[in-house]
Amino acid sequence: MSGPQTTTHSPPRRRIAVMTSGGDAPGMNGAVRAVVRTAIANDCEAYAIYEGYDGLVKGVDKKGNEMIKKMEFDDVRGFLGVGGTKIGTARCKEFRERAGRLRAAKNMIQKGIDALIICGGDGSLTGADLFREEWPGLLEELVKTGELSGNDIQPHKHLNIVGLVGSIDNDLSMTDATIGCYSSLERICRNVDDVYDTAASHQRAFVVEVMGRHCGWLALMAGLATGADYVFLPENPPPEDWQDKMGKIVETHRARGKRTTIVIVAEGAHDRNLQKIPAQEVTKFLAESLGLDARTTVLGHTQRGGVPCFYDRFLGTLQGAEAVKAVLDTTPETPSPVICMIENKIVRRPLLEAVKQTKEVAKAIESKDFGRAMSLRDAEFEEYMKVFNIIAGTGTENIKLPEEKRLRIGIIHVGAPAGGFNAATRAAVAYCLARGHTPVALHNGFPGLIRHHSDKPIGSVRDIDWLDAESWVNLGGSEIGTNRGLPSEDLETVAMVFKEYNIQALFLIGGFEAFTALSELRTSRQYYSAFKIPMTILPGTVSNNVPGTEYSIGSDTSLNALIQYCDTCRQSASSSRRRVFIIETQGGESGYLATLAGLSIGALAVYTPEEGIGIDMIKRDIDHLREVFAADKGKARAGKIILVNEKASKTYDVKTIKGIIDEEAKGRFESRWNVPGHWQQGTTPSPMDRVRAARFGVRSIEHLESFGGKSKDDIDEDPMSATVIGIKGAKVLLSPMEVVEKRETNWKLRRPKNEYWLGLKDMVDELSGRPYKRAEH
Ligand code: ADP
Repeated sequence: MSGPQTTTHSPPRRRIAVMTSGGDAPGMNGAVRAVVRTAIANDCEAYAIYEGYDGLVKGVDKKGNEMIKKMEFDDVRGFLGVGGTKIGTARCKEFRERAGRLRAAKNMIQKGIDALIICGGDGSLTGADLFREEWPGLLEELVKTGELSGNDIQPHKHLNIVGLVGSIDNDLSMTDATIGCYSSLERICRNVDDVYDTAASHQRAFVVEVMGRHCGWLALMAGLATGADYVFLPENPPPEDWQDKMGKIVETHRARGKRTTIVIVAEGAHDRNLQKIPAQEVTKFLAESLGLDARTTVLGHTQRGGVPCFYDRFLGTLQGAEAVKAVLDTTPETPSPVICMIENKIVRRPLLEAVKQTKEVAKAIESKDFGRAMSLRDAEFEEYMKVFNIIAGTGTENIKLPEEKRLRIGIIHVGAPAGGFNAATRAAVAYCLARGHTPVALHNGFPGLIRHHSDKPIGSVRDIDWLDAESWVNLGGSEIGTNRGLPSEDLETVAMVFKEYNIQALFLIGGFEAFTALSELRTSRQYYSAFKIPMTILPGTVSNNVPGTEYSIGSDTSLNALIQYCDTCRQSASSSRRRVFIIETQGGESGYLATLAGLSIGALAVYTPEEGIGIDMIKRDIDHLREVFAADKGKARAGKIILVNEKASKTYDVKTIKGIIDEEAKGRFESRWNVPGHWQQGTTPSPMDRVRAARFGVRSIEHLESFGGKSKDDIDEDPMSATVIGIKGAKVLLSPMEVVEKRETNWKLRRPKNEYWLGLKDMVDELSGRPYKRAEH
């Protein structure tokens, strides 16, 4: 489909173009899809610029094909699940010159486009801002030379630029995550997990080189997620005697019984004198000086490609939609924004400043000011570095607390396991040991403790050994055992066990049951002084329905598993065509899992308990399906998906919905129902769940230890002595249970009162083209 060939003087609709530029990154396609469909939904026209700035400058390719093409709703069908960029990217020398930008401006005016959304790295965004700055001058010149008329340029005097950061390195300042970085991290971790197994079998050492010339985000996160012994990052180089330092750590770990050594090296790693540290040199040292059977693995371009993970589809989609809104909000006075993510919040930041700060990192590294380089990265990066150092034992010799401040900290898992339970426990254990606390495993949840005191004691309380916890880094499930049972089954025995084993602080990991358990312990303090201890819960559940946080560990792993399941179903229909899958998701009374999965696979509809299901709704969706299938003319070969939360309706379960659809479809299309069930817990936890579990695990113990040495009464009176840790908007924080229980909890429906993601439901509908009038019932 090509755009209008003649110059339009007063375009009836705003025309917004989207482009991918620089290095490709998984999730870029999701961003393009979201821009195109959100633009259309907002009564604008959408254009895609093919092959980055090259397309903008040339306008047509060698074969005469348009490189600036008008996009319709269906043109981005199937984009979400595809890696790389389907509209192409290229490096373009011409755009670096004014003459190139002049041609680009002319091409844009001829198409009536004056808003450009660019998804790329800092180079692409710099070019974009320069283009905007020069725009009035470029137009003037084009009029002067007679290439355009005054009328041509009149409606387009101002160029709108909005940046989206697509980069696997996560190297832009002012955002916590760039589109593509988590897919890349996933690929790295999968590879390192694989070499970990072979390393453990042969007691080998592996040195893995990962991408990142100026940015060590991938190396650091991969190190944290895979239990590496040492990492080399460009912004925080090792001391000059790194061989000694690394050697000592590796030897200590080996002496404690570890059978593997994993070292992650960023490709841009160097020492404090900027001398490159190649992976091979590290391998050589491990082999020659430590006598290890050491190998080098360079991951190379595998890190770039592949199917985007849940988070990148989600981020690309949210950012793409936000970029269109930013275009529509921007006035000539507003500085060009770049769309960023801070923890769980989409924000707009000034593009130029973000690029400037990013470049400063490279400059700080060049001038060996590594402290500044680290400080220019976001605060999250520094915290992850600290957590890595604690877990790996780098520079933690002197952080032990005085005897009187050390605690015996009980760790307990409650409810169904989710990805990250073990990673959080491992990090908490490592932190406890570094500080001189004693981590105590309370096995098999509260029923484990209660049975511990039965006629046949089963030994449910045990101190945790470093080596045990160390090997849990990438394991799913719960290594210390978990159970849904609550303390109220026998509060007295629980209190007795706490007393007998001198449990002085409690770290709980789990979902709504764990939240309820903590509430029970807190409110029973008046009867049992054993509970007058600091207690914190780290929410961990696939349902992500724990009040006090917008994110629970395990939910990312689950969403990855679910989208993989949906992708597979959809593909299976590609030969038969015209099939709709009705898939039941977990989530309890919360539609989070269904909605977020729906957003990242492009579900035709999502049925949630919050909204319920009505016969009118099903009927409307059947009408919609009929229209979609009738209009596809054999083009859309993949199946459609409707996601149904397990508790969305008492009447309409997936089987019933399938029956209704089959009846109404009258043979024009067919349907299948599926229940992925426990598949949704995933197997290996996702890197995001692993790293966040580690970070929150350490933060939780830090908080618990702040009560060291305080009296029971002081603890009892302090609302912060029973807390839930989580992400709220742009912040990670610990909230007092008392307040969260009272103000933020819907006890009956076991979910937060205000679910932050509810607004995303409309976005799923808008992007899938569902005529999305809310159910009237
Ligand atoms: P990335 O966007 O991933 O950082 P590059 O730095 O290679 O990748 O930039 C991609 C393209 O953006 C370049 O090929 C060029 O066309 C354009 N570009 C980059 N920097 C500038 C600049 N300073 N001025 C104009 N265009 C630029």
